Amino acid sequence: MLKVVLASNNKGKLRELGALLEPLAIELHPQGEFDVPEAEEPYNTFLENCLAKARNAACHTGLPAIADDSGICVDTLGGAPGVHSARFAGEPKSDRRNNEKLVQSLAGSSNRKAHYTCVLVAVRSADDPEPIIAEGRWYGEVIDHPQGEGGFGYDPYFFIPEAGQTAAELSAEEKNAVSHRGQAMAKLVEEMKKRW
Ligand code: IMP
Repeated sequence: MLKVVLASNNKGKLRELGALLEPLAIELHPQGEFDVPEAEEPYNTFLENCLAKARNAACHTGLPAIADDSGICVDTLGGAPGVHSARFAGEPKSDRRNNEKLVQSLAGSSNRKAHYTCVLVAVRSADDPEPIIAEGRWYGEVIDHPQGEGGFGYDPYFFIPEAGQTAAELSAEEKNAVSHRGQAMAKLVEEMKKRW
């Protein structure tokens, strides 16, 4: 088995990605197991922040590393909150205040279009010149009143027209099959199969 470190301690991400990588004889370990210090995320793009996290994890462990970065991008807000999604309404981070701010920012706007973006990066070493990069996008609309109890973050306000439901009304399996993260994970694994 090839040991790979995940630049996150999120149990859900570890489980989902770990399951996809197992058939490739890859064993995924959270960076917390190696006491990796959190990387700075000072950049304006998902890709740059993601790459910084992957390189940081590889640098501190000497192992190949995978990182992810994601957020919600709203058309009429010029792509905001984007990389600032987790802390859209400031510190301490709060889904409730983030959602309040999102709905307020769109008050009176008839264009409700938004998408979730997820970028995943895999590096074989801290200075890998050819990182594998995979992106996923999930398109929907921001609604004014929450629907559903599942998911996290902006999900109760993220309505998917084709499904006639919000992301929070889908089961975890239904969400993973179509979400930005699910799409990016599938692409990353496909590319790792070819290249590693
Ligand atoms: P992270 O990349 O997991 O840190 O996510 C950044 C932020 O984007 C989260 O804190 C959420 O606010 C938002 N976000 C990313 N993916 C999702 C999702 O699938 N549902 C709801 N919110 C999400």
